[in-house]
Amino acid sequence: MSDTTNPAALAERVRDGDLRLHELEAHADADTAAAARRRLLATETGVDLDTVGAYDFDAEQAADANVENMIGGAQVPMGVVGPIELNADGGGAASGETYLPLATTEGALVASVNRGCAAMRADGGATARVLENAMTRAPVFRVDDVGEAATVASWVRENLDQLADAAEATTSHGELQEATPYVVGDSVFVRFAYDTKDAMGMNMATIATGEVADLIERETPAELIALSGNLCSDKKPAAVNAVEGRGRTVSADATLSRETVADVLKTTPEAITEANTRKNLVGSAKAGALGFNAHAANTVAAAFLATGQDIAQVVEGANAITTVDVRDGGETLYASLTVASLEVGTVGGGTKLPTQAESLDVVGVRGGGDPAGANADALAEIITTAALGGELSLLGALASSNLASAHEELGR
Ligand code: NAP
Repeated sequence: MSDTTNPAALAERVRDGDLRLHELEAHADADTAAAARRRLLATETGVDLDTVGAYDFDAEQAADANVENMIGGAQVPMGVVGPIELNADGGGAASGETYLPLATTEGALVASVNRGCAAMRADGGATARVLENAMTRAPVFRVDDVGEAATVASWVRENLDQLADAAEATTSHGELQEATPYVVGDSVFVRFAYDTKDAMGMNMATIATGEVADLIERETPAELIALSGNLCSDKKPAAVNAVEGRGRTVSADATLSRETVADVLKTTPEAITEANTRKNLVGSAKAGALGFNAHAANTVAAAFLATGQDIAQVVEGANAITTVDVRDGGETLYASLTVASLEVGTVGGGTKLPTQAESLDVVGVRGGGDPAGANADALAEIITTAALGGELSLLGALASSNLASAHEELGR
């Protein structure tokens, strides 16, 4: 066995300082490089990594596009919820019945979301809409003083067409929609918002923003300091995303009959409404939260893992508000969930990996949509509807246990 096909010999060369850990792919195929790293780790830590090594994706592709220093794969149990029924009124990107795979280690999550989806299905399903699609990147520029800052901000406001031409020269899909300047003393931030179609769009938006930043430097006194100035705001809790949106802004709602609330959620519209008001609205306000919901991030995270999204963007996916109302004189319960910044794609990133691609196939949204953007819109609507199911189920569980204890006390 030559060195290049022998993981033990390669591990030895790393241990001897002849090769660095990240250089293994230059001397062996990606599977052998990963095996060599596992061998090295086993020697250094005494940990047997056979399970980590039992992966089923294309190592070359993963090592090229998804991870460095690859040692194998992390397996997460996957369940499925559904069917999720969406109104077939033609107004949304998704309609009819769909299943959604969820990857999680939290027992009861899939059952909870599924219960909420069953409740919505019992009364004709939900309605969902993507209200906005705007992936953002916000570089920060240095200027001499606030006078210059105002000049740069004005130039940006007056030259959106020129900025769009520069941005769109870098992509055949992305479209620059807005450029919003923010001035803080001698710093100028410009929050660029792109329609990224079926891509989550963070690479696309970053490449396009590189071009527009060059243009701003050429045409104004601004000097680029960082291509991301944190007003974007990626993978960090930030009010700007909760207010302005980032990625998809999505809303889903459903109306349940009093009977369905009793039969499926084991409670009443009034008890769910009170739980929502005191917990999701008053409690979240008192906590200074950005998300006024029960656990939307649970569904978002599990769907992101299953479908190959960028998992760190669950931070933005938690920017969601749940509302419920008793309607029709107590005969129905109206419920909605609005996620301000759901960043999803059906092309690019982790969506190409085989288990993630299979999950997207289950939903029926793998790859580019027709028209472009339709698949990612549909995925966003389905995740938001499932998350609404999770909200209803948890609110129902909280309300019914309160109701049960109230009954216990009052019944005596
Ligand atoms: P990507 O994998 O970099 O690019 C997707 C590309 O697919 C687009 O640029 C587009 O090419 C092409 N495409 C083909 N059909 C398309 C369709 N129907 N709709 C839209 N695009 C289509 O993916 P990305 O979504 O831009 O970025 C996601 C990746 O960025 C993830 O891996 C994520 O982890 C990573 N990320 C990057 C940053 C960063 O700052 N760079 C930050 C966070 C995350 P054209 O543009 O040529 O049309």
